[in-house]
Amino acid sequence: MTAGAHAMNKPPNNLTLRGWFRLMAAALVLLVLLVEARLVWMEWQALERAMQGQQAVARLRLALVAVEMVSRERGPANGLMGAPTPSGDAALRGALDTARSRTDQALSDVQQMLTVDQDKPSYQRALRQVAAYHQALMRARWHIDRLAALPVTRRQPNEIRQRVQGMVDLIPILAPTITLLADEAQQADPSLDASVWGARLSAELREYAGQLGSLFTPALTRQQRFTGQELTDIARVRGRIDELRHLLSLRVSLLEQTDRLVKVHAAMEQDYFVQAAALVQSVLSTGQDDGRFGMTPADFAAKYVPPMNSIIALRDALLDNAELRCAQLRSEARQTLASVVLIDVLVLALVLALLRLAHERFVQPLSQAADALNAMSGGNLDLPLPQPAAEDEIAEVIGGIHALRQQSAARVALERERDELIKTLREQSTTDFLTGLPNRRAFFESAQAELARAKRHGFPVALLMLDVDFFKRVNDSVGHAGGDLVLMMVAQTLRQNVRQGDLMGRLGGEEFVALLTHCEPADGFGFAERVREAIAAQAVPVSGGLPDARVTISIGMADSDTHGLSLERLLAVADGALYKAKRAGRNRTELASSDAARA
Ligand code: GH3
Ligand code: MG
Ligand code: MG
Repeated sequence: MTAGAHAMNKPPNNLTLRGWFRLMAAALVLLVLLVEARLVWMEWQALERAMQGQQAVARLRLALVAVEMVSRERGPANGLMGAPTPSGDAALRGALDTARSRTDQALSDVQQMLTVDQDKPSYQRALRQVAAYHQALMRARWHIDRLAALPVTRRQPNEIRQRVQGMVDLIPILAPTITLLADEAQQADPSLDASVWGARLSAELREYAGQLGSLFTPALTRQQRFTGQELTDIARVRGRIDELRHLLSLRVSLLEQTDRLVKVHAAMEQDYFVQAAALVQSVLSTGQDDGRFGMTPADFAAKYVPPMNSIIALRDALLDNAELRCAQLRSEARQTLASVVLIDVLVLALVLALLRLAHERFVQPLSQAADALNAMSGGNLDLPLPQPAAEDEIAEVIGGIHALRQQSAARVALERERDELIKTLREQSTTDFLTGLPNRRAFFESAQAELARAKRHGFPVALLMLDVDFFKRVNDSVGHAGGDLVLMMVAQTLRQNVRQGDLMGRLGGEEFVALLTHCEPADGFGFAERVREAIAAQAVPVSGGLPDARVTISIGMADSDTHGLSLERLLAVADGALYKAKRAGRNRTELASSDAARA
């Protein structure tokens, strides 16, 4: 009980139901928006990654093509160094120029691609590597051209081997750039791993296959047996080729076995590992036997290079595979993003609709009900009450308030009635029922107050006692009701003649009294005479075919100058004067003598 009263006096905070609801609605909407924004952001990231993956694969392709072109350039370069005439023939020269310009184009493509994202430090590094690579390539080409310009007899096998190796040594310079681009693709989506790795391995395999061809060039140029060093190198490269073949098969097996992939993989096995391998085997055994190869390096290249294209075809198929996967991821991500956005919009709309419903069904009616209750306690019963939306607790609350208000209204009406009654009663207790003049008690109350004022302010008053002459006879002749009419006429005449502030009353029966304030004795007498004459002059019509009633009155008057300001005294003195007037023949005004004042 005390705790309750305490809680009523000191609410923990002044947040209204509406306030709470707004706060909670805002928090809920914010939460929903945050979760939704997070979901959209995640899907957006997935889409971005898919797009980046696609781009990275395209860039990786450019870099792998550049490496391929350098490998391809080695074929005609080796051919030129092994050519019987200085600087080879026109066909060989043309082939080399074409290969070189292709390499240059591929390198400039890579450079341009890296320039697009120049802000990335990794790309800046890659650009420097490509530049270094290009310089090294130019040097290697210069040495090759210089050596090829010599007569064939003056081309030292050692130097040929060195120049061939010079082209091979270029490859590792680009390796970090390729790793960088492959990593970017894999980071975009781990599912790209197998195809990206497969493409890299294919490129490397093509490179080693090319190197193997190059290792045959010095012996083919000399038309002599392989040296011990050459055989070691060949064995090393062949070992690496076997390893790469194995790794590549492993990667390919991890991928979905599409028609194209299966076909291209089988073609590589056939073209390179069966057809070209047979050529390699035969050249190798001749080189270990007597060195009579029966073919120039160019002849060898013409047979050996085309099968290597099957490795490039596998590389391209794997890159296409990766790009396809990226496109698929991208469209999936785009679809997911669209669905997430749609679901987000729907969820938000649902939450807003629910909040609106809760507001309309509960918060608004309860707040309105509270307002109505508040107003009711302040006496206002007219505030609109909400319409209940269902037969629920809120409807009960509204119904309760409605009933309370009706009860309140009934109580207010009763109170109003009671007040009216009290007012009437009070008037009746102070007013004479017949004439409407103040009764004896009321006259005494106000006369006392007026006399007190007269004493305080020192103004004179006159007190008149009036009595109807032979009233018994009037009653006898016109009846009691006719007598009442006469009394009403007397009261009315009195009322018409007094000034504002004068007091009158019916003392009882046919006896009246008047207290004239601010009134000198002469004025009081004048007033008495006026009233007396006015009454005598009136005829009161009565019912029952009787003649009009006519009456006179006698008046006794006392004044404050002569008799003081005591009400009892003034009344007694005036009464004495009245008695005198009656005795003196009635229908007259008698002034109380100064003797009476002394008595
Ligand atoms: P006097 O000239 O000496 O005053 O003679 P009177 O007949 O007027 O004197 P009295 O005082 O003996 O008579 C008063 C009469 O007034 C008696 C009573 O029947 C009558 N009366 C008193 N009150 C009323 C009233 O309210 N209505 C009527 N109609 N008559 C009343
Ligand atoms: Mg009388
Ligand atoms: Mg009388």
